[in-house]
Amino acid sequence: MVAMPQYINVSSGRRHLVNGRPSGTFAGVDFGGTKIAAVLADERGSILAEGVIPTQSNAGPSQAVRRTCKLLEDLCRDHSVDYHAIGIGLPGLVDRETGTIVFLPNLPEDWRGFPIAREFASYTGKPVALLNDARMATLGEFTFGSGHASKNMLFVTVGTGIGGGLVLDGRLHYGAFGAAGEIGHHTILPEGPLCTCGSRGCLETLVSGPALAAVGRGLMREGLAPRLCEIVAGDPDKVTASQMAQAAERGDIAVAKAIRRSAEYLGIGIANAVTISAVDNVIIGGGLVVLGELLLAPIRDVLRSRVRMFPAEVVRVSCSFLGAKGGALGGVALAMEEYMASACSLTS
Ligand SMILES: [Zn+2]
Repeated sequence: MVAMPQYINVSSGRRHLVNGRPSGTFAGVDFGGTKIAAVLADERGSILAEGVIPTQSNAGPSQAVRRTCKLLEDLCRDHSVDYHAIGIGLPGLVDRETGTIVFLPNLPEDWRGFPIAREFASYTGKPVALLNDARMATLGEFTFGSGHASKNMLFVTVGTGIGGGLVLDGRLHYGAFGAAGEIGHHTILPEGPLCTCGSRGCLETLVSGPALAAVGRGLMREGLAPRLCEIVAGDPDKVTASQMAQAAERGDIAVAKAIRRSAEYLGIGIANAVTISAVDNVIIGGGLVVLGELLLAPIRDVLRSRVRMFPAEVVRVSCSFLGAKGGALGGVALAMEEYMASACSLTS
């Protein structure tokens, strides 16, 4: 059983519940390697206020917390609202029970072991809950977005890397260390490229924004992507997934094949996850959603050919409804969930 995250500085005041559900305003914070996004939203996920600040990760976690709390304070003052609780997503492993950072692969070492929930609570006086950012975005999509009313859902975010989360039987599945859903780091090619996690041939090494752009640059150099060359004015350093999609649509066959190959690898990874967990709703988020149907159609094809243990045609595949706001809105959903847990503990 996964222990509930601890509330910190829980006030003993009246809980705001309507028909047994939390009501009012909640704060969601999405910590990234370069920026921190914060929103204040109501219980339906309607955003009341939002802001973004740079992470400045080299200056350490304390200053980032202080500036984020100042941002929340400013948002509250400017919009004349206050919030009940904060949900925070971090790009790595967190200890939800102690409210500390365990490991953030893309941030400096001094962030490790930092008691980030306690720091937030001491500045704001609000209850704080932590979660990995991809799991938090999954919770956001499940609560407010494309996964709404879906009992078994896989969320996959594909950008610089691949993250994910699982909703099973109507609840976000945490697993040991809250690490369930790391679809980017299961092996697709045993002797494939070395991954940042230390393994080889992970899905993430084969499908990502940078991996796809590298293939596009290679095709340009070989003279196999004339439309792409026009779009980036001959500068391979400007190649992005979005421009590759444009080039494919304008007739670059090699670029279209490269996108399809990436999408098929992603489809294989998703088919594995679907077969193991029997989810019937797959939602794709992250930067590569700019590829649209160029990404989704091959994934659906692979699911039809590789998912054999239950009817693959029932599996829906679509793009995220919440987009870039999914992370911070997931924080709002997390804050609501913990606020509800707190209400239950106060009345028991
Ligand atoms: Zn890996």
